[in-house]
Order: sequence, then structure tokens, then C-alpha cells
Amino acid sequence: MRDLTVYNSLSKSKETFIPIHKGLVGMYVCGPTVYSDVHLGNIRTFMSFDVIFRYLKFLGYKVRYVRNITDVGHLVGDEDEGEDKIAKRAKVEGLEPMEVVQKYTNGFHDMMRIFNILSPSIEPRATGHIIDQIEMVQQILDHGFAYVANGSVYFDTLKFAKEKGTYGKLSGRIIEDLLQETRDLKNQGEKRNAADFAIWMKADDRHLMKWNSPWSVGFPGWHLECSAMSTKYLGAHFDIHGGGNDLKFPHHENEIAQNEASCGCAPANYWLHTNMLLMNGRKMSKSDGNTITAEELFSGHSRHVEKPYSPMVVRFFMLQAHYRSTLDLSNEALLAAEKGYKKLMEANAFLQKIKTEDSEKNAAIETKIIQLIDETFDELSDDFNTPKALARLFELVPIINSYKDKKEGFGNISAPTIELLQDCFDKVLFEIMGLRDENARSDPGSEGALDGVMQFIIELRQEARANKDWGTADKIRDVLQAQNIVIKDGKEGTTWNLK
Ligand code: AMP
Ligand code: ZN
Repeated sequence: MRDLTVYNSLSKSKETFIPIHKGLVGMYVCGPTVYSDVHLGNIRTFMSFDVIFRYLKFLGYKVRYVRNITDVGHLVGDEDEGEDKIAKRAKVEGLEPMEVVQKYTNGFHDMMRIFNILSPSIEPRATGHIIDQIEMVQQILDHGFAYVANGSVYFDTLKFAKEKGTYGKLSGRIIEDLLQETRDLKNQGEKRNAADFAIWMKADDRHLMKWNSPWSVGFPGWHLECSAMSTKYLGAHFDIHGGGNDLKFPHHENEIAQNEASCGCAPANYWLHTNMLLMNGRKMSKSDGNTITAEELFSGHSRHVEKPYSPMVVRFFMLQAHYRSTLDLSNEALLAAEKGYKKLMEANAFLQKIKTEDSEKNAAIETKIIQLIDETFDELSDDFNTPKALARLFELVPIINSYKDKKEGFGNISAPTIELLQDCFDKVLFEIMGLRDENARSDPGSEGALDGVMQFIIELRQEARANKDWGTADKIRDVLQAQNIVIKDGKEGTTWNLK
């Protein structure tokens, strides 16, 4: 197996990846809080871990990938006194909190499918693991690293920091600085120190989502769910923990503290963090209104883009930046990505059709091809460097295209080398990078261009029908028909085909 190097946010250096159990990898990634539509920033993070998941599998590891759904406990402002994001949304939309959760979980799954992001091995929900979280709170209390105040339970950060000496290692936050931070929080009076955080919160009468516990009728703190669910499905000590950069503090720092305080060890050996997707130089973020949705990109109806862009162009655009670099979304950058994507897909389509008669070979070209193939995988093995791996493939494109014209010195590639090249493009573009060729004609049931988008449209139509919104359902069918796409409702569900 090829050596893999990963950048560990904990040690702040690149390290050779060595899994705890030979051939097996446990990976936990913080999933979405399902209170609104995911934006492209969120999608970038999940896409980055999708490539990591795919590459680990490509290398031959058996991977158990756990990505949770946060459906309780994430408070507005991420502090201990805010309102629950889901409960707040439920009031605004006039829905049950679980209806909000279902609606935005469905939307999230639709997006994952459209962008060809694989499902994780397990997708646990916080509300499905209240008992596990209560047990973990009890363990932390038993070990003396938490205290009860007025029915809530707080993590004793200062005591933990003094005794273990590890608090702040991931984020570089210094406990003294945290203690000095003066904050005007409602529950500050219950906390012994400003750096303490709630692991169980007593709910007031107006609170919508609450459960019985030994301390009060309440709900778990946001950081706790990931500690409890990763421990449940991956064990107290596993290989990789991931999430966006913005989760390093307080979420991941507090997760580490909770795990150490309950299980006695840090949860993960390698902490991987993705960098932020920017728009106009600022972090894409729902709360700032600096967002663009996938639908806006696909339709081109946004002041940020001048035309529609397809899911795979967007995926390619994201892969052209390393996951640890920021990426600025703009119309120009998407246009360039569209050109690059087309060029690579066309070269690949031609390459896959080449049939070689074992002609006289050109040793220099053969050596170059083999070297570039090797370098492509070297780049992927160097902290999943997708932009550099793509750059190597782009170096191979003129060699492939020259085969078309049988230019002097080119075209004389032996059958085994052509097969190696075909295999490399196929594996890197589709299996590892998760792209699809949108230019390929889309036969029903094939992996072609329209599959993901059509799946999404069919679901939208089903939703409309379920809501007795016949107008929208008919409009979807008519618009598709105008594009020569016919949809049929049958026993096996709805299918589609091109006229
Ligand atoms: P949330 O639903 O807010 O918990 O976010 C889900 C995931 O998306 C987390 O891992 C965040 O770190 C990540 N995320 C949020 N905004 C961005 C962004 N602009 N760029 C990349 N990742 C982001
Ligand atoms: Zn988490």
C-alpha cells in the first residue's frame, strides 16, 4: 500500500498515516445542523471529506465513516444561552422541530446526491442518542470534571486544564485568556468560570425539545453529541476526526476535553480541517447572508454568477483548490473551471476509446506517461492534494490529444501503457475525485450527466404531489417534456428517459 501523508491539525505538521487497526480506518466528520438549506460552503467541506473517504478506500482500507446529523443542542451564537437553531426555525415555519429536521435532512441528502458525495457508513442523529449522551455526562461527573448547577451540568474546564494540561492544544487557545474573557451570559452565574461550557442544559417551559435526565428535564450541549456518537460507533480511540476550520474552537477543543474526561483518552489520532469557501473574499455564511445556494448556481439566477453552472463543474472547481486552502467563488473562477472540466472530460472520453495495435513505441513518451501517472498518485498521497493531481492529468492531456493526430513522435504508445493511462484517468477522475462526465449521453439507469439532477427534480415533484401542489407537479412535468425528458410513475417509483 502506498504511504499516505496527512496534515494533522493537532501536531500542526504533516505525518505518515498509520491506522490503529491494520487495514481499517475509523473516520468521524461533523455533519450539518439541519435547520436550513446547506450552502456551498458546507458542501465544500463534505466534498473534501468525500474525496478523503474515497481515496482511503482506493488505497485498500476498509473505512467506517461516521458523519452525524445535528438535530438538537446547537444554539444560536453557539453559546450556552442562545435559542436552539432548530426550535427557532420550527417557530418561524410553524412546524414541529422534527419536521424541520426531516425537511432539511432531505434537502441535505438531495445535495449530496447531486454532487456525487457518497453516503457515510453511519449517519447518526443527536436526538437518537440522548441516552448515550446522558451516560457520558454521568461519566464526566463521576470523574470529577463537571458539576451540577440548578439542573444544568457544566464542564469544569479550568479543573480539566490544570489536571490534564492538554486543553487548547488543537485551537491554540490559552486557558488564561479564556478565563479573562468577560462575557455577559445569562447562565454565567451558574458557571464557576467563563471557560466552562454546558454539557446538559435544563430546559424552561417554553423549550420544545427536551428529555428526562437525572439532573433536569433538558437537552444535551452541542459538543457532547459528537463525543458520544463517535465513541459509540468508532470506539474511544479512532483514526481521523474532521470538520471545517471554524469548528476547531470551541466545538472540537471541547469534544477532545469531554472524551478525555469521560474515556481517559483523546478521541482521534489525526484531526483534519477543511478551509473555508469564500465569496467576495468573505467566508460564505448563512448568518452573514453571504451565501449562494446550489439551485442559484444551477439556474444562474444570482447576482454572483452570470450563467448557470452544472454540479460537476462546481465539483471540479472545488477540487482545483487544496482542502486546506481558502477558495473564493466567483463567476470568472467558475468559467475557468468549466473550461478545464470540459477539456479533461473530452480528453478522457477520447482516451477510453483508443484501441491500440501494438505499434512501435516511443520510449521517451512511455517514460513520461508512467512518471506522470505515478506523480498523480504521489500528489493524492500527499495530504490529498487534488489540485496538483489534476495538474498532472492536465500534463497528460496534450499527449492523449496528440494521439488523435498521430503527430510525429506521439501516438506510438504501447497497449499496456495506454491501458495504464485509461485506468489512471478512470480511477482518479471518477472513483477518487467523484466526478461524472456530464457530456456523456445519459441513458436511463446509466451513470450519466443528468442522473443526479433528475433524481432531485423527481423528488421535488414528489414533494409537490405529497403537498397536493398539483400546479407545481404538472409544471415540472411540462418543463421536462419540453426538454424531451419523459417521466413515468410506476410501481417501482418514478423513472425518466430521453425521448
Ligand atoms: P454547520 O451546519 O453550520 O454545523 O456546518 C456544517 C459544516 O460545514 C461544518 O463542518 C462547517 O465547518 C462547514 N462550513 C460552514 N461554512 C463553511 C464555509 N464557508 N466553507 C467551508 N466549510 C464550511
Ligand atoms: Zn461535531
